[in-house]
Amino acid sequence: MSCVFCDIVAGEAPAIRVYEDDDFLAFLDIRPFSRGHTLVVPKRHSVDLTDTPPDTVAGLARIGQRIAQAARRSGLHADGNNVVINDGKAAFQTVFHIHLHVLPRRSGDKLSFAKNMVLRRDPGREESGRLLREALSELDTTP
Ligand code: AMP
Ligand code: ZN
Repeated sequence: MSCVFCDIVAGEAPAIRVYEDDDFLAFLDIRPFSRGHTLVVPKRHSVDLTDTPPDTVAGLARIGQRIAQAARRSGLHADGNNVVINDGKAAFQTVFHIHLHVLPRRSGDKLSFAKNMVLRRDPGREESGRLLREALSELDTTP
Protein backbone atom coordinates (compact mmCIF):
# COMPACT_ATOMS: atom_id res chain seq x y z
CA MET A 1 0.00 0.00 0.00
CA SER A 2 1.30 3.46 -0.79
CA CYS A 3 2.40 5.67 2.08
CA VAL A 4 3.20 9.35 1.71
CA PHE A 5 5.76 9.32 4.53
CA CYS A 6 7.55 6.30 2.99
CA ASP A 7 7.61 8.31 -0.27
CA ILE A 8 9.18 11.26 1.56
CA VAL A 9 11.76 8.97 3.21
CA ALA A 10 12.59 7.52 -0.22
CA GLY A 11 12.94 11.04 -1.67
CA GLU A 12 10.01 10.37 -4.01
CA ALA A 13 7.79 13.06 -2.48
CA PRO A 14 8.92 16.59 -1.61
CA ALA A 15 9.55 17.73 1.95
CA ILE A 16 11.53 20.38 3.78
CA ARG A 17 13.94 18.18 5.68
CA VAL A 18 15.09 19.28 9.10
CA TYR A 19 16.99 16.25 10.44
CA GLU A 20 18.06 12.84 9.16
CA ASP A 21 20.02 9.85 10.42
CA ASP A 22 20.12 6.16 9.47
CA ASP A 23 16.80 5.35 11.13
CA PHE A 24 14.80 8.59 11.38
CA LEU A 25 13.77 11.60 9.33
CA ALA A 26 12.24 14.89 10.46
CA PHE A 27 10.54 17.30 8.06
CA LEU A 28 8.13 20.22 8.21
CA ASP A 29 4.41 19.50 8.36
CA ILE A 30 2.79 20.60 5.11
CA ARG A 31 -0.17 22.15 7.00
CA PRO A 32 1.54 23.56 10.10
CA PHE A 33 -0.24 24.54 13.30
CA SER A 34 2.69 26.83 14.09
CA ARG A 35 5.94 28.01 12.47
CA GLY A 36 8.42 25.15 12.45
CA HIS A 37 5.77 22.44 13.05
CA THR A 38 7.87 19.31 12.48
CA LEU A 39 7.10 15.62 12.07
CA VAL A 40 9.60 12.96 13.12
CA VAL A 41 9.19 9.56 11.46
CA PRO A 42 11.03 6.25 11.58
CA LYS A 43 12.35 5.32 8.14
CA ARG A 44 11.00 1.80 8.58
CA HIS A 45 7.22 1.85 8.14
CA SER A 46 5.01 1.06 11.10
CA VAL A 47 1.49 2.30 11.75
CA ASP A 48 0.96 3.36 15.34
CA LEU A 49 1.82 2.52 18.94
CA THR A 50 0.44 -1.01 18.52
CA ASP A 51 3.08 -2.19 16.05
CA THR A 52 6.02 0.18 16.58
CA PRO A 53 8.93 -1.28 18.58
CA PRO A 54 9.59 0.49 21.92
CA ASP A 55 13.11 1.42 20.82
CA THR A 56 11.65 3.20 17.81
CA VAL A 57 9.20 5.13 20.01
CA ALA A 58 12.15 6.05 22.24
CA GLY A 59 14.06 7.24 19.16
CA LEU A 60 11.14 9.43 18.09
CA ALA A 61 11.08 10.99 21.56
CA ARG A 62 14.85 11.51 21.60
CA ILE A 63 14.84 13.33 18.27
CA GLY A 64 11.66 15.22 19.15
CA GLN A 65 13.38 16.51 22.30
CA ARG A 66 16.34 17.68 20.21
CA ILE A 67 14.08 19.50 17.77
CA ALA A 68 12.14 21.10 20.63
CA GLN A 69 15.43 22.32 22.14
CA ALA A 70 16.53 23.63 18.74
CA ALA A 71 13.20 25.44 18.25
CA ARG A 72 13.77 27.36 21.51
CA ARG A 73 17.30 28.37 20.52
CA SER A 74 16.49 29.04 16.89
CA GLY A 75 15.40 32.19 15.12
CA LEU A 76 11.85 30.84 15.55
CA HIS A 77 12.26 31.98 19.18
CA ALA A 78 10.00 29.26 20.60
CA ASP A 79 9.31 29.54 24.32
CA GLY A 80 8.02 25.97 24.50
CA ASN A 81 6.66 23.11 22.39
CA ASN A 82 3.75 20.70 22.18
CA VAL A 83 5.12 17.21 21.44
CA VAL A 84 2.51 14.63 20.55
CA ILE A 85 1.79 11.31 18.85
CA ASN A 86 -1.75 10.81 17.57
CA ASP A 87 -2.13 7.05 18.10
CA GLY A 88 -4.92 5.70 15.90
CA LYS A 89 -7.92 7.04 14.03
CA ALA A 90 -9.82 7.67 17.27
CA ALA A 91 -7.00 10.04 18.27
CA PHE A 92 -7.19 11.91 14.93
CA GLN A 93 -4.31 10.06 13.29
CA THR A 94 -4.70 10.66 9.56
CA VAL A 95 -1.38 9.42 8.16
CA PHE A 96 -0.85 5.80 9.13
CA HIS A 97 2.93 5.85 9.31
CA ILE A 98 3.76 6.65 12.92
CA HIS A 99 5.02 10.19 13.52
CA LEU A 100 5.73 12.51 16.38
CA HIS A 101 4.63 16.15 16.10
CA VAL A 102 6.80 18.94 17.48
CA LEU A 103 4.84 22.20 17.60
CA PRO A 104 6.93 25.21 18.59
CA ARG A 105 4.97 27.66 20.77
CA ARG A 106 5.47 31.28 21.76
CA SER A 107 4.38 32.76 25.07
CA GLY A 108 0.97 34.35 24.62
CA ASP A 109 0.46 32.83 21.14
CA LYS A 110 -3.05 31.56 22.00
CA LEU A 111 -4.82 33.74 19.44
CA SER A 112 -2.34 33.33 16.58
CA PHE A 113 -2.16 29.59 17.30
CA ALA A 114 -5.95 29.32 17.13
CA LYS A 115 -5.94 31.25 13.84
CA ASN A 116 -3.23 28.95 12.51
CA MET A 117 -5.30 25.90 13.42
CA VAL A 118 -7.72 27.13 10.75
CA LEU A 119 -5.27 28.54 8.18
CA ARG A 120 -2.48 25.99 8.70
CA ARG A 121 0.09 27.63 6.49
CA ASP A 122 3.51 29.20 6.86
CA PRO A 123 4.53 31.47 3.99
CA GLY A 124 8.12 31.29 5.29
CA ARG A 125 8.39 27.49 5.29
CA GLU A 126 11.83 27.41 3.67
CA GLU A 127 13.16 29.87 6.25
CA SER A 128 11.54 27.97 9.14
CA GLY A 129 13.30 24.82 7.95
CA ARG A 130 16.61 26.64 7.62
CA LEU A 131 16.34 28.15 11.12
CA LEU A 132 15.66 24.74 12.66
CA ARG A 133 18.50 23.08 10.74
CA GLU A 134 20.89 25.83 11.84
CA ALA A 135 19.86 25.55 15.49
CA LEU A 136 20.17 21.75 15.37
CA SER A 137 23.69 21.94 14.00
CA GLU A 138 24.62 24.46 16.71
CA LEU A 139 23.19 22.08 19.36
CA ASP A 140 25.48 19.39 17.97
CA THR A 141 28.55 21.53 18.62
CA THR A 142 27.54 22.83 22.07
CA PRO A 143 27.27 20.49 25.06
P1 AMP B 1 -1.87 13.09 12.18
O1 AMP B 1 -3.24 13.69 12.29
O2 AMP B 1 -1.14 12.98 13.47
O3 AMP B 1 -1.90 11.79 11.41
O4 AMP B 1 -1.03 14.14 11.34
C1 AMP B 1 -0.64 13.96 10.03
C2 AMP B 1 0.07 15.21 9.66
O5 AMP B 1 0.77 14.97 8.45
C3 AMP B 1 -0.87 16.40 9.39
O6 AMP B 1 -0.54 17.45 10.27
C4 AMP B 1 -0.61 16.74 7.93
O7 AMP B 1 -0.63 18.13 7.67
C5 AMP B 1 0.75 16.14 7.69
N1 AMP B 1 1.04 15.76 6.30
C6 AMP B 1 0.25 15.05 5.46
N2 AMP B 1 0.85 14.88 4.27
C7 AMP B 1 2.07 15.50 4.37
C8 AMP B 1 3.15 15.69 3.48
N3 AMP B 1 3.12 15.20 2.23
N4 AMP B 1 4.23 16.38 3.90
C9 AMP B 1 4.26 16.87 5.16
N5 AMP B 1 3.27 16.73 6.06
C10 AMP B 1 2.18 16.05 5.68
ZN1 ZN C 1 5.16 4.53 5.51
